[in-house]
Parts: sequence; structure tokens; C-alpha cells
Amino acid sequence: MPRAIWVIAVLFVVVTALAHAQPSSKTPSPVSGAAVSAPAFDVNAAVETYLAKMSPAQRARSTAYFEGGYWLSLWDFLTGCVVMWLLLQFGWSARMRNVSERITRFRPLQTALYWVQFILLTSVLTFPLTVYEGYVREHKYGLLNQTFGPWMKDQLLGLAVSLVLGAILMVPLFGLVRKLGRSWWVAGAVLMIAFLAFVSLIAPVYIFPLFNTYTKLDDATVRDPILSMARANGIPAKDVYEFDASRQSNRVSANVSGFAQTLRISLNDNLLKRCTLPEIETTMGHEMGHYVLNHAYKGVVMTGVVIVIGFAFVNWGISFALARWGQRWGVQGIGDVAVLPLAVFLFSGYLFLMTPVNNTITRSMEYEADMYGLNSARQPDGEANVDLLLGEYRKMEPGRVEEFIFFDHPSGRTRITAAMRWKAEHPDTASPEEMARPFQSTQ
Ligand SMILES: [Zn+2]
Repeated sequence: MPRAIWVIAVLFVVVTALAHAQPSSKTPSPVSGAAVSAPAFDVNAAVETYLAKMSPAQRARSTAYFEGGYWLSLWDFLTGCVVMWLLLQFGWSARMRNVSERITRFRPLQTALYWVQFILLTSVLTFPLTVYEGYVREHKYGLLNQTFGPWMKDQLLGLAVSLVLGAILMVPLFGLVRKLGRSWWVAGAVLMIAFLAFVSLIAPVYIFPLFNTYTKLDDATVRDPILSMARANGIPAKDVYEFDASRQSNRVSANVSGFAQTLRISLNDNLLKRCTLPEIETTMGHEMGHYVLNHAYKGVVMTGVVIVIGFAFVNWGISFALARWGQRWGVQGIGDVAVLPLAVFLFSGYLFLMTPVNNTITRSMEYEADMYGLNSARQPDGEANVDLLLGEYRKMEPGRVEEFIFFDHPSGRTRITAAMRWKAEHPDTASPEEMARPFQSTQ
């Protein structure tokens, strides 16, 4: 593909994303609007009252944690680059290919065997960073409930899942590359998109239960209002499931996932323990919004555009690099599975640059789900309290550019502002109990 075309394509995605981003990153100007219809309620003052429920120390802690994440994403990326370079430069990648070829002459199996060695070696090399990021740092901020043993067990389980799922993707992907040569990237992107859709469909039923125990929620005082909301919103769910996320952390979370027979509404035990019914309802309204608005499918389509452009770039980058260094690395061509570290290097560089685009895709959908949750649960004060809980690990008040680049969900201030703006137009939904409820951190 001529370079000019993909430069234009990248610009198109960025510009579309920018246009898309505006509703979520724009702080509304509620004062003038509120003055027309509901002069008694001051949206800005209500937002400040909620934000003040968090102490300056609590806020400083969440800001430090979240901003540290900006740097971590850079270190993750750079570490990945170094590891991929090692694999190529010292001929380790070529050696892993040779081992696979010695074991079997069957090409799909060679790809799978290479993949097993690749993921094991890269996991070992990045292990210190994984421990710091996932264990040490999470404990430092009081966000992890696991001791090292159970945490490590979850890591190994995750590795096993990556081994299997990765092989399911890699074998047909390299088959395509061998068959189509340099024009692999369109079909390859379609395969990748289908793979992502497949994983997001099976994950709630076959993967998440590997890490947490799901049980039917029996408490009718919580279950019945949730099922009532589901019926009202056309969601054919018969049961509500609870899962023991407190094994890992105190974070509140829920989801509506799957389709047809696999459709299920799940909420975690932290949400049940830490939140009032109005807070649970507004959270479930948000999750039902994701389902009704078909965010899983829309996400796949939008991510698909990012992937197609990314694969075109990877294709170009591979030709460029192999022509210069292919011989030194012992990589025989684009169809040689030993090319994988180069492909990962190029694709992760592309994704790193695309961080604001990918974040904006999800953040826009999260904002839509927030609006859906407000309209379906009608609990703006409950919503504001939940937004504070999520502020334990997400900076509450970023700058506008910062929110655009780094936030995959709207910030606490954006979300509480949306809730209070909604409340201004629905004064009958005000809840004195929720307004009076203090913010209780578990950190
Ligand atoms: Zn969401």
C-alpha cells in the first residue's frame, strides 16, 4: 500500500476519534442551562460537594496511582521492544523455529510449537516487570487482596489461557500469510477481528469462571429489582450471578455479557458489600446500557478499523526490516514464523501510538452507558457515589487533554457532572440518603 494512503487512513481514524470524543471529554456548562428550567439546583455546587467527599489524601493517592500507570504503559512498551529485539538479534527466534521444525514436519503444528516457546520465553523475560506492576505496586496502593501464592497461580492460569488462545489465532494467521504472501494483511485483519469477537463471546462463560467462582444470587431484595430492570430493557435474563472478585481486590464491578444461551447478568461481591441498592441499580443500568447499545459489536467494528491499518503498517514494516536485517536474524521471509518478534514489535509500537484512539473508542461507549444507566435506574446520587468508589484507582480530575489520551473511562468529575446535570432536570429523583452517605475507602 503506498505510504500516502495509510497516512491518510491513520489521519482519518484520529480525526474521527477526535470528533467522537467530544461528548465525553467536554465538561458541560450546566449553570446557564440549569438557570432556565431548574433554578433551585446548582449543578456545579453539587459536583463539588460530591468531590469533597474524598479527602485530599485519598485523592492524592488515587492520582499518584493512576499517573504512575502512564509511565508504566511506556515501560511496558519499551520492555517489550527490548525483548523482541533480543529474540531477533541473538537468533533466539530462529532457534525456536528450528526446534519446532525438528519436532514435526506438519506446518500448523510448527507454528503452534513456536508459539509455545515464544510465549514462555517472553513471559520469563518480562516477569520482573509483571511482578512489580501486578503485585508489588497493587499492594503498595492497597488494591490487591492476594498473597503471592494465589496471585502467582492466577498468573500461571492466565499464561495457560494465552497459550491456548494464542495458538488458535497464530496457526491460521501464519497459514494465511504463507498462502497470500505480502497481501496477507486484509484477510489477516478479518481473521483477527473474528478472533476478538470469538474471545469476547466465550470469555464470560468459559474463561472468567477459571479465575472466580460464579453463584446464583439468591438475595431477592437485590435480585428482583435487577431482573425488573432487565425485563424493562428487553434483556432476556432469568438469573443474576454473583462472583467473588474480593479474592483479588476490593474493586466494584459488574457486567451483562454473552448472547442467547450464554447471556448472563453478573455482579461482583464487592459491589454487593460496599454499595446500597440505588448504587447497585445505577451500576446495573450502566452495564445493561452496554448490552442494549450493542457495544461489544460496535467495539469490534471500531477496533477492526484500527487493526486493518495496523496490519498494513506491520506488513510494510516487515518488508522494510527483513530486506535489511533478515539474514542476520535468520528470518527467511514473511511466512517464516520466526518473524513473530518483529511483527509484535511493529504492532505494539503502532498500538502504543494509537493509545488515545483506542481509549477514546472505549471512553465514548462508557459515557453512553453512563447516560443509559442514569435514564434507566434514575439514581443520579447513587451514580455519583459509585463514581467516587471508582476514583480509588482512577484520577478524579484530569486535564482535558490528559483525559483524552489516557482515560478508557470518563473521569470521576466528568461522570459526576453528567449525573448532577441529569438530576437538575429530574429533581424528584434526588436522594437525601445517598447525598449524606460518606465515601468509604477500603485502602
Ligand atoms: Zn462500562
